[in-house]
Amino acid sequence: MENKLKKLLNNSYSPYYKFNVSCVLVTKDNKEYYGVNVENIAGINICAERNAIYNAITNGYKKGDFKEINIMVNSNECSLPCFTCRQVMLEFFDDDVIINCYNKNNDCNTYTLKELCPYPFKSEDLR
Ligand SMILES: [Zn+2]
Repeated sequence: MENKLKKLLNNSYSPYYKFNVSCVLVTKDNKEYYGVNVENIAGINICAERNAIYNAITNGYKKGDFKEINIMVNSNECSLPCFTCRQVMLEFFDDDVIINCYNKNNDCNTYTLKELCPYPFKSEDLR
């Protein structure tokens, strides 16, 4: 997985923040969907995580179809997903989906979605 993420980092488009991120989303039937962050001069950026999730949704996957998401940043730190991505994960992931956060040295911190989002905003809140 680390080599795949590292290779994918090369496709990240981050000329402004210079913060490259790659992502491999794995479905329960072991399909992989890739994403990288893509920046824009006007600040219309999208994260690698959302790119991968939306790619899987575009290909017909639904809430509950996901097993794990692997994220790598081109940094010495193991970053965490931003809160916009966490909210999108809550929309499509079960609480026990694994979130592996790698740095460029292949160090990895592992969480579940529940650990990263202990008090989520969910559809029940709209009732
Ligand atoms: Zn994000």
